[in-house]
Amino acid sequence: MPKGCKKIAVLTSGGDAPGMNAAIRAVVRRALGKGLKVVGIEKGYKGLLAEEMFDMNARSVADAIQKGGTILGTARSSEFATDEGKKKAADILRKRGIEGVAIIGGDGSYRGALGLSREGIPVVCIPGTIDLDIACTDYTIGFDTAVNTAMEAIDKVRDTSSSHERCSIIEVMGRNAGYIALWCGVATGAEDILLPEKYDFNEQNIINHIIESRKLGKTHHLIINAEGIGHSTSMSRRIEAATGMETRATILGYMQRGGSPSCKDRFYAAIMGAYAADLLEEGNCNRCIGYLGGEFRDFDIEEALNMKKEIPEYYYDVSKALSRSIANDRVAK
Ligand code: ATP
Repeated sequence: MPKGCKKIAVLTSGGDAPGMNAAIRAVVRRALGKGLKVVGIEKGYKGLLAEEMFDMNARSVADAIQKGGTILGTARSSEFATDEGKKKAADILRKRGIEGVAIIGGDGSYRGALGLSREGIPVVCIPGTIDLDIACTDYTIGFDTAVNTAMEAIDKVRDTSSSHERCSIIEVMGRNAGYIALWCGVATGAEDILLPEKYDFNEQNIINHIIESRKLGKTHHLIINAEGIGHSTSMSRRIEAATGMETRATILGYMQRGGSPSCKDRFYAAIMGAYAADLLEEGNCNRCIGYLGGEFRDFDIEEALNMKKEIPEYYYDVSKALSRSIANDRVAK
């Protein structure tokens, strides 16, 4: 067993996610409770390279658990992604006596962490991203709050769409992953759900679905479109022209990242943050934390990055089956 860390740092990186503060708080308080010193690094890897950091105590994370965003700030850094950047970062950490880093972020941040560990710095990653797109975990901090925020907004758009007999295209976040779109689409009873992993870019299928549903008396048509597919506004123009149904696009955007984290996000963040501090205190390096198969576990970062995650075919099949129920009525007659 390698020597455990006596002084660690914590940072948040990539896109912010509700619940990151609960994770920071857990890392800090668990580590302090074990007698470790803790440094907070501001603005992710960018702040690390700029040496924007400060000593943290238990009060540093007071009044943070209920807040969205991240009290440490976050950023993207192209300099850190270079070999020289990671070497410089490792030298800064060594110079300051920091023996390990807890990194809260998405898969891009994990790749950065892997590079840092190859420069000899022990790292432990915590999955903090609203996208749910990290393969070694069934859960990422921020997803639960983000889908609930989006679902509430979509419900509101649905009300007005029904009243005006409109088609609404609602674009939700998810550049490469359709988890937010799938969950929100199923939860709001959307008629079509467009996922980057599945969409065939055949708009005619959507148009036919709208025309068919209109004939059967449906007053609205809700399409959930993932950010990775995009083009919601131009899509709405084409759909309106082809169907004659008034069609509007709503892009939910950054509102999905904000807001007070849900209980689930806070709880998982608390356990994962404490787990990260434990791993660093025990001298583990190059690990990432996941919640898989009903338990919290840790994985080698490289192994985790090589794991594949796909939308379960059954979920997709169910989402399509439920959205076509009106057509089924006609078949049954
Ligand atoms: P989200 O999923 O919410 O977007 P993320 O962690 O995936 O979060 P990225 O912007 O991809 O966000 O990554 C955050 C930072 O991690 C980058 O700005 C960069 O400094 C570093 N990083 C990303 N990819 C790599 C890489 N391949 N090698 C080294 N560092 C990387």
